[in-house]
Amino acid sequence: MSERIRMMPGRKHIALVAHDNMKDRLLNWAVEQREALSAHKLYATGTTGRLLKQRLNLPTESLLSGPMGGDQQLGSRIATQQIDVLVFFWDPLEQQPHDPDIKALLRLAAVWNIPVACNRASADFIFSSLLLDQRYRQKIPDYNDYMRKRVSEGRYSSKR
Ligand code: PGA
Repeated sequence: MSERIRMMPGRKHIALVAHDNMKDRLLNWAVEQREALSAHKLYATGTTGRLLKQRLNLPTESLLSGPMGGDQQLGSRIATQQIDVLVFFWDPLEQQPHDPDIKALLRLAAVWNIPVACNRASADFIFSSLLLDQRYRQKIPDYNDYMRKRVSEGRYSSKR
């Protein structure tokens, strides 16, 4: 897969998500990081977003609740370069009804090469990085090249 460079802006678009058993941990971490978070544009799944707004009093765009499609909405925004960082405290000890959506979200974050924090330690590492507030040369899949190759390979031709 060929890649291209995308300039990730200094002011990041950060998505925050926590499963129910992890919400307190995410909220406590977010309170500690309030000042750092305030420099960026925040998104969250429905319930996480409402709780964050109450605790941080920062503008946060809340999407649908995760099990109702919020994870898929975030995945779609990652694939269209509208989300730069994902902080996702997922629950490693409990089954989730929307497991396929969670896998899809994490998969797209890997495909589009964005930083993902799955727990407090990884979130602390990302938030102590100088890159959080700087522009960053992010390598992402070259979608135009990908599509050109798929179409020109000819294997989907209707000619017989
Ligand atoms: P929620 O969704 O913020 O609406 O609880 C999170 C999730 O389960 O993905």
